[in-house]
Amino acid sequence: MQIAVVGTGYVGLVSGVCFAEMGNDVTCVDIDAGKVESLRDGRLTIYEPGLEVYFDRGRREGRLSFTTDLAEAVRPADVVFLALPTPPGEGGAADLKYVLGVADDLGRLLSEAKAGGDGWGYKVVVDKSTVPVGTAARVTAAIEAHGVAEGEDFDVVSNPEFLREGVAVEDFMKPERVVVGTGSERAADVMRRLYEPFVRSGNPILVMDEASAEMTKYAANAMLATKITFMNEIANLCDRVGADVDKVRRGIGTDSRIGPKFLYAGIGFGGSCFPKDVQALHRTAREKDYDFQILDAVLRVNDVQRRAMADRVVEALGTDGDRPLDGKTVAMWGLAFKPHTDDVREAPAHVLIRELTRLGADVVAFDPEAVETTRATFEREPLDGPGALRYAERGYDAVDGADALVIATEWPEFRRPDLDRVREGLNDGPNGAPLVFDGRNVYEPERMAEAGFEYHSVGRPHVAPRGAGIGDAG
Ligand code: NAD
Repeated sequence: MQIAVVGTGYVGLVSGVCFAEMGNDVTCVDIDAGKVESLRDGRLTIYEPGLEVYFDRGRREGRLSFTTDLAEAVRPADVVFLALPTPPGEGGAADLKYVLGVADDLGRLLSEAKAGGDGWGYKVVVDKSTVPVGTAARVTAAIEAHGVAEGEDFDVVSNPEFLREGVAVEDFMKPERVVVGTGSERAADVMRRLYEPFVRSGNPILVMDEASAEMTKYAANAMLATKITFMNEIANLCDRVGADVDKVRRGIGTDSRIGPKFLYAGIGFGGSCFPKDVQALHRTAREKDYDFQILDAVLRVNDVQRRAMADRVVEALGTDGDRPLDGKTVAMWGLAFKPHTDDVREAPAHVLIRELTRLGADVVAFDPEAVETTRATFEREPLDGPGALRYAERGYDAVDGADALVIATEWPEFRRPDLDRVREGLNDGPNGAPLVFDGRNVYEPERMAEAGFEYHSVGRPHVAPRGAGIGDAG
């Protein structure tokens, strides 16, 4: 099949590369000329495990190309995917200006081609962006406004994407389900043909109406964000009653009605999807005069959770006054919003950096993949506190001479560090032991105490440090 993907970011690029890997001819379009040039030159613009092999093969075998010219991509396409940003707009509602702007462009192009006698044929236009209920109808209207006919020249389908950054290629190649929202049998058939090779193991292609498909994506993200937030609240209560959230997690995760996934307590959720999608769903509810109370609580709890580790650093290390961390240096391991990605949008690590530098601390940060994206973010939106942010080449360099270490992202390489090396690098805290604040519960409190650290984690009992240098954390 001939495919155009409009928007070549985390979703568009992965989709385009994976469709090409399945034998389709794919042209990816982006307005960012630098991005297109880089991709044309064979340089990937995002870090995503497994993407490079398919990307190289697609380009080499001529099935994958990149352009800034929408018409060039759309003319031959059977299916046009919109993988455009839908950032939070006014009051948290999804801002549809990118999606509707391209829909308008598409309508104009299709109409001009038709008027010129050289019609480009029937197109299926697919909303892959996460968009509020009613958007498929608005995209249809924006295209139709140019005098082309739904059903004859085009149909619009809602096909929300469920990939997870960090395992996006695997998720795209073997989706647990494909959701297709359309009232058109013709468009549904095209989508079935396109996706059947991806679900050979029997996972379903669920065809439904557009509104239900659009709602499915928000319901999925809101459910996941709620699950994490619920566990964060259980962890906060565990802290107060002396229970261990890890044991509680195992205790409830074995219940098949609950399941073991998404039960890890930590420093709150972030990323480019959960925060904005929960906000957008909350906003949709408000517009319909429905008070979606759980979502309100999820947003409020998550906001507090993302800052709470900074309060613990102040408690353990700070002085009185407005800048309790003045003169202190905090090492931070992890900047990406989760491991195996360079995406730092709404990353809890960034919230902590803002908070710690506002409180006076200097932060020395390390991440295996997300230093450049972090640098770009803080250039765009500078820190406004007195503390400074520096970057380290290696994790151990960040720790040397620091007064505390904060683990903000659970990259595998942080799971088994040389703890002797970490202890030697860190200064001792006020209680005579080096301080580690583990926002992802990657270490065992007992082992950290044995290794001589004053160790703080989320929802697990504190164990006093017991001398130095006994083995690794585990
Ligand atoms: P992104 O910001 O990484 O990519 C969007 C791309 O669109 C950018 O490269 C931008 O330059 C380009 N663009 C903007 N206007 C354009 C235009 N007029 N023409 C062509 N290109 C244009 O965003 P993303 O993370 O890929 O997300 C895209 C959508 O998919 C969002 O709605 C998001 O909620 C949804 N989604 C994202 C994920 C994820 O994990 N990132 C997962 C599922 C769904």
